[in-house]
Amino acid sequence: MSGRKRFFVREIDYPDVSEVVLDGEEFIHAKTVQRVEEGTEIILLDGSGKEYSAIVAKIFKHSLIAHITGAEDGWREPSAEIYLLCGALKGDKTELVVQKATELGAGRIGVFSSEYCSAFINSNKIERLNKVAREAAKQCMRSRAPEVVYFDKFADALNSAKDYKNKLFACEFAKQSQTDIIGINGSAALAVGSEGGFSEKEFALSQELGFSGITLGKRILRAETAAVALTALVSYALGELK
Ligand code: SAM
Repeated sequence: MSGRKRFFVREIDYPDVSEVVLDGEEFIHAKTVQRVEEGTEIILLDGSGKEYSAIVAKIFKHSLIAHITGAEDGWREPSAEIYLLCGALKGDKTELVVQKATELGAGRIGVFSSEYCSAFINSNKIERLNKVAREAAKQCMRSRAPEVVYFDKFADALNSAKDYKNKLFACEFAKQSQTDIIGINGSAALAVGSEGGFSEKEFALSQELGFSGITLGKRILRAETAAVALTALVSYALGELK
């Protein structure tokens, strides 16, 4: 299945329904970028984690019909549950974080506003970030993409991680880490600040909510570097990068 191009569709009800319509952006990508033709073998993804083998049956002006020939569970999905919470970043740096976190196995991504955050996020930006997650998922051959959600209130972002076994708070002013990342097991939620960093008040709130302060060393990393580095460290610790 490795060489076949992948496309997301809204929902698949296979084997009850074996004909699926691909339209919208995914159709445009299939037609103009991937140049699929009638007879091309493709893979369809519906976000369930399953991969559906399909053959392009008919191509129209704005859509195509694919005929599903089989289904199997995607084996590249992470078994670890990793949830990255990151401060909204300026420019397209949040997109970079979403792309890398998806490749590294994040299952959920939350973008938050905080006291020293100066980036502006609206619904278009969140839609764009979800598109970046889907593209990154297809590129690294995952069978689903992490959903990217936005939290206007920092406390809501932290509270959304309450059920995670490990809650790690990357704190640029922490003198030492309260948890050894390499020794963790079970689900993990990670919080990384925006360019402006975290306030003492935000760190105190994270402690109240069960987060462990984590230092990433004596240098102050760019927010996007810290987000990718911490996700990679946790992904490795949870056995994903081997
Ligand atoms: N404005 C802050 C300052 O000047 O100290 C820097 C914030 S840093 C650019 C953005 C985020 O990356 C921080 O909030 C933290 O989550 C993470 N970070 C960067 N360097 C770190 C370090 N050495 N240890 C832990 N977290 C770090």
